[in-house]
Amino acid sequence: MGAEPYYGPDFGLLQRQDPEIAQVLLDELDRARDGVQLIASENFASPAVLAALGSTLTNKYAEGYPGRRYYAGCEAVDRAEQLAIDRARRLFDADHVNVQPHSGTSANLAAYAALLQPGDTVLAMELSHGGHLTHGSRVNFSGRWFDVVAYGVRRDTELIDYDEVRELALRHQPKMIICGATAYPRQIDFAAFRGIADEVGAWLLADIAHTVGLMAGGATPSAVPYADVVTFTTHKALRGPRGGGIMCTAELAGRIDRAVFPFSQGGPLMHAIAAKAVAFGEALRPEFAEYTRQVVANARALADGLSAEGMRPVSGGTDSHLALVDLRDAGVTGALAEQRCAAAGITLNRNAIPYDPEPPTVTSGIRVGTPCVTTQGMGTEEMKEVASMVARVVKDPSAVAETRERARELAHAHQIYDREL
Ligand SMILES: *Cc1c(COP(=O)(O)O)cnc(C)c1O
Repeated sequence: MGAEPYYGPDFGLLQRQDPEIAQVLLDELDRARDGVQLIASENFASPAVLAALGSTLTNKYAEGYPGRRYYAGCEAVDRAEQLAIDRARRLFDADHVNVQPHSGTSANLAAYAALLQPGDTVLAMELSHGGHLTHGSRVNFSGRWFDVVAYGVRRDTELIDYDEVRELALRHQPKMIICGATAYPRQIDFAAFRGIADEVGAWLLADIAHTVGLMAGGATPSAVPYADVVTFTTHKALRGPRGGGIMCTAELAGRIDRAVFPFSQGGPLMHAIAAKAVAFGEALRPEFAEYTRQVVANARALADGLSAEGMRPVSGGTDSHLALVDLRDAGVTGALAEQRCAAAGITLNRNAIPYDPEPPTVTSGIRVGTPCVTTQGMGTEEMKEVASMVARVVKDPSAVAETRERARELAHAHQIYDREL
C-alpha cells in the first residue's frame, strides 16, 4: 500500500496481482455490456454502490446491532448501519428495519424463525404458479421444516384466487400466510391478504423481494402498511448490492432482530450494509421514482409487443417490472426459447407458466423483466423492438446472427457504466 489513503477497489492492482480473476471481471462486464439483459431479478448497481461494496468495511467484525456490538471498534461501521436503517425507514415508512440479512433467502429464514416453530402450518403460493423456493419447496428449509399448504392462480384468469386463499386458510388454520412471488406479473392485493390473515389469526409475511424497488419508487402500492413482516432483497429492481432486509412492526422488532443475529447469522457484512445505505439514498431521490415508473411502462410495452407477435402474456399483461410469456402457440418450449435468445445476445430465463404441462427444466414459458434495460436508459420504443427481436429469434433460429448484431448495437447505444446513475 502506498502513501495514498486506501479506501477501496483498484482494478489495476487486481490485474497485476491476480490476472486470472481480473479477467473474469472483465469478461463478465463484456458479457453484460454486449447484449440485452432481460433477467427480471437483475439490475446494474451504481458505481457508488460498487465503491462501498469493494471497501475495507469488509474487514470489520460487528456482531450485534448499532450501539450494542460484541466487538470493539464499531463506531464507524455503526454509522453505516444506522444510515442504512434510517434511510430504509424513510423510504418505506416502516416502524423497524433490519438491514443485516445476507440475502432474500436469509431474510425469509429469519422471518420464519421469528414467528414460527418447526412443524407449524404455513399458507404460501405454489412454486409452479410463481412462488419462491423459500415458500415451501421440498428441497428448501421451508418445505422440510414446516407444514406448507399452497394456494395458486385461477386457470381462467391466471390471477391469485383470493377465495381459494381464504378457504385454505379457514380449513388449515395456518400460523403464517405468505404473499409475494417471484414470477407473478400482477399487483397483489395486500389488503385482501391482511383480511384473511386477521380472520384466522395468522401472521402475514409479505415477501417483496422482486417488487421492493417499485414500491420504493412509488410505481406500485406498498405492502408495508398491511404485513406484520416484510422481507426483501436489495439487488433486484431496488438496484443495490446483493443482499436482503426485513421490515416489521415495532412489536416484532426484538423477535426479528434476534432471529437474524444470533439465531441465523453471525457477523454482518458491513461493506454490503454500507452499499445498501448508498442504494437506499439513491432510491430516495426523485430520479429513482421516475426510473421505477419507466420500468413498469417498459414492461407493459414489452408484454404488448410480445402479445402482438402471438406470444401470450400470462394474465394478459403486467402491472410490474416483469412479464411471463406462454410460448405454446409459437410451438417452442421455454428451454429452447432461452437457448435461442441467448445465442442472439438476449439474456432471459425459461419459466414455468401456471398449470404448465412441461417439466420445470423444460417449461412452456419465459420470464422477461425490464429493470436492467431501464437502468441503461432504454424506453418503450426500444422495448417494442426488443419484443420483435425476441419473437423473431424464438420462432426462427436462422435469425440468430442478425438479431445478435442488432442486440449488440442496442446495448452499445445504451451502455452501462458510461454515465452517472
Ligand atoms: C429472489 C427472491 C428471493 C430470494 O432472494 P435471494 O437473495 O436469491 O436469496 C426470495 N423470495 C422471492 C419472492 C424472490 O423473488
